[in-house]
Amino acid sequence: MTTTTHAFAAHVAHAPLAPFTFERRDPGADDVAIDILFCGVCHSDLHTVRGEWEGTLYPCVPGHEIVGRVSAVGTNVTKFAVGDLAGVGCMVDSCGHCPSCNDGEEQYCETTGFVGTYNGPDTVTGGHTMGGYSDHIVVKQDFVLKVTHAEADLAAVAPLLCAGITTYSPLHHWKVGPGQKVGIVGLGGLGHMGVKIAAAMGAEVYVFSTSPGKREDAKRLGATDLIVSKDADAMAEHLGSFDFILNTVAASHDLDQFLVLLKRDGTMTLVGVPETPHPSPSVGNLIFKRRALAGSLIGGIAETQDMLDFCVKHGLTSDIEMIQIQDIDAAYDRMVKSDVKYRFVIDMQSLKAA
Ligand code: NAP
Ligand code: ZN
Repeated sequence: MTTTTHAFAAHVAHAPLAPFTFERRDPGADDVAIDILFCGVCHSDLHTVRGEWEGTLYPCVPGHEIVGRVSAVGTNVTKFAVGDLAGVGCMVDSCGHCPSCNDGEEQYCETTGFVGTYNGPDTVTGGHTMGGYSDHIVVKQDFVLKVTHAEADLAAVAPLLCAGITTYSPLHHWKVGPGQKVGIVGLGGLGHMGVKIAAAMGAEVYVFSTSPGKREDAKRLGATDLIVSKDADAMAEHLGSFDFILNTVAASHDLDQFLVLLKRDGTMTLVGVPETPHPSPSVGNLIFKRRALAGSLIGGIAETQDMLDFCVKHGLTSDIEMIQIQDIDAAYDRMVKSDVKYRFVIDMQSLKAA
């Protein structure tokens, strides 16, 4: 059995999103059905709907920063009850038995790959998965997160499901903490969460930005200062001084200007996925100080729950601008101009007006 789902979808790469209905499965024994209250807008949504990455399946209903209220549960569901607040991030399934899944790193699933919340193969009903720009979603309980923030903060919790975990996971993996100097490149959705989380982990945080106007915000979010990455003199003051740099930039750019700022044995981890590759970094910058250039993909489900609990403990949510679903294309256009303060979140009540 299925239930009609109201949503907004992209039908081709270069047209505005439009109202769309489709059928979702009714919850099976292991499933949780969630009425979606808010959905964050990730730059990955934009990359996908506009066809900037290969392989977009249309119609595409994006959205993987989902929070809402449980409306039904299957007979085997023990972790959730009707009425609970719940979250869904970037994944809705994985093989469950490969070494990465066994380690709780489902995002690195080695057999089938993880099933994306949108644009993935729908392993239950066929076709492809449809995301959170919709009124409800049905997800296996193992991929649903408990939300324990105050209900009044719910909209600002939504971005934690992708921007939060994508920054928390590498900061945690590379053991960021007190006594370390940490850089966050790009002050957007991911970057502003990276600043908050790295500061809460006890590090001294600097923002690298192309937008000098974001300096006061960077400090308010927990950074010591903002360094304008186009200002060669300002960059030179920090040569060889960073323990760790998290690079969230969504566009191709010169990585060397950041690698030279790392100490011996420092690491820069990339999480941004630009449409075209970065120019190749200079090997010399890596070799002479044993520096590392790494990548990181979202985070596992257990780690996502840890991140949510960490954010509750430290009083962290996202800085958001609430939008109506009808304004999604204008929001994307602002995102391309780096004009997001610092995450758009869709009030899903607005779907009813569509
Ligand atoms: P966003 O809100 O648009 O933020 C990106 C920031 O990068 C901008 O605010 C801007 O900050 C900076 N920037 C943009 N264009 C730039 C350029 N040409 N040169 C230098 N800096 C530039 O995007 P987001 O949602 O945070 O996502 C960032 C990237 O991460 C996207 O590519 C997204 O697809 C990817 N992502 C990856 C994962 C993962 O698992 N690895 C998960 C989610 C998203 P300033 O104004 O401060 O310069
Ligand atoms: Zn995302």
